[in-house]
Amino acid sequence: MARYTEASCKLCRREGEKLFLKGNRCATAKCAVDKRPYAPGQHGQRRTKLSDYGIHLREKQKLRRTYGVMEKQFKRTFVKADRMKGVTGENLLCLLETRLDNIVYQLGLANSRSQARQIVTHGHILVNGRKANIPSLRVKVGDEISVKEKSRQIAVIKESLENVGSRPRSDWLSFDENKFAGRVERLPKRDDIATRVEEQLVVEFYSK
Ligand code: SF4
Repeated sequence: MARYTEASCKLCRREGEKLFLKGNRCATAKCAVDKRPYAPGQHGQRRTKLSDYGIHLREKQKLRRTYGVMEKQFKRTFVKADRMKGVTGENLLCLLETRLDNIVYQLGLANSRSQARQIVTHGHILVNGRKANIPSLRVKVGDEISVKEKSRQIAVIKESLENVGSRPRSDWLSFDENKFAGRVERLPKRDDIATRVEEQLVVEFYSK
């Protein structure tokens, strides 16, 4: 299973905005976007005007990097969104948002999507009572996502739940702290998804 292993902050600097890839650190003065607000590399401080293609590409990369999805899988997700009824851009966001790793992050069981991904791959998460260790697993309405009983004392999960107040849960999800379990109440709408990405540009990128 491929995943991006280089410095996350470089990705934010490349996109010129915070993608919140490192959890709590992103809200501190240590954030690299605040400290060095220009692209990484030798020519990062050069002023360059983006071409039309460049604008579309950057928007696609921003969305892909936010959810930590590799190119091939992202393209497959787009194709699926395109075949669904409704607005392709919103379908794409909905498909990304209902990935198991993102749900674990949104429920507050992890500080970042990459941490959520690790929690899932290490087998700490159950979906409807059965072990689920595939981060890209699509979660459906009514599914229950819980933490394995043996894993409830893991430091990262406990710490994330303590910090969840700074990142309130969206109302398409519910969570019972006593049971360490959440539920997908409905599919997320565009307004529920806190991303500044213009999804229409991503659709246009793949439609060219
Ligand atoms: Fe991005 Fe967070 Fe790094 Fe800031 S600290 S550059 S938001 S990953």
